[in-house]
Amino acid sequence: MTRAEFLAEARDLGALPAPGPPEIAIAGRSNVGKSTLLNRLVGRHGLARTSKTPGRTRGIIFFDVDFATGAVAAGGRQPGRLRLADLPGYGYAEVGRAERRSWQALIEGYAKARPTLALFVVLIDARRGIEDEERQLYEWLGTIGVPAQIAFTKIDKLSASERGQLRVAARAAFKTAGGAGRAAPLLVSGQTGEGAGELWAAMRAALVPFATAEVAAAEGPE
Ligand code: GDP
Repeated sequence: MTRAEFLAEARDLGALPAPGPPEIAIAGRSNVGKSTLLNRLVGRHGLARTSKTPGRTRGIIFFDVDFATGAVAAGGRQPGRLRLADLPGYGYAEVGRAERRSWQALIEGYAKARPTLALFVVLIDARRGIEDEERQLYEWLGTIGVPAQIAFTKIDKLSASERGQLRVAARAAFKTAGGAGRAAPLLVSGQTGEGAGELWAAMRAALVPFATAEVAAAEGPE
């Protein structure tokens, strides 16, 4: 069971909330299926609507998410906490250069400076295919040392053979960009829930180094 609660919207770097729980950023082009997927992952029903007000530039929307971990410890299920950073969609044809620049400045500034950023999920519409923008973003995240996960959305629309082709294309596109130690792209559908468990597992795995750091900080030096 998960519970997501709206924390803040930041339209510029000065408005970012103070760092808290480890953060998972999620980005993708407009219409990639991000709201549907987030609903599937954390059930943020009314919140998805607030991010869709037409005719206004959106900022980064932060949600604090409480979840029960799968591991049953001595005292029962352990609660977990993470923060989602829902990044504004990009890639509308009608978006002008100025807006594109401000989007880039916000996203790049955020990714570079956020000490609690645990994972950056890049969503790609499975039917659209991989474009330079996604490849460059993924590559750039590697250069600044931010863990990244590619997830292809709306995978329910692809046949088995199309999925096979997509996996081959994704391996080729992200092999050089990804470098060693990066996870393989995931195939997901917010509509059917396919792959959602795997994405959730990747998100949870990304939190582990932060949990260790927290324990170490709490225990203090020897
Ligand atoms: P956002 O703009 O990235 O938040 O995208 P939305 O979640 O609003 O979805 C955009 C459109 O794609 C809507 O018409 C959705 O019904 C459709 N869509 C979203 N996710 C899926 C999916 O997993 N499968 C299919 N077939 N359609 C989807």
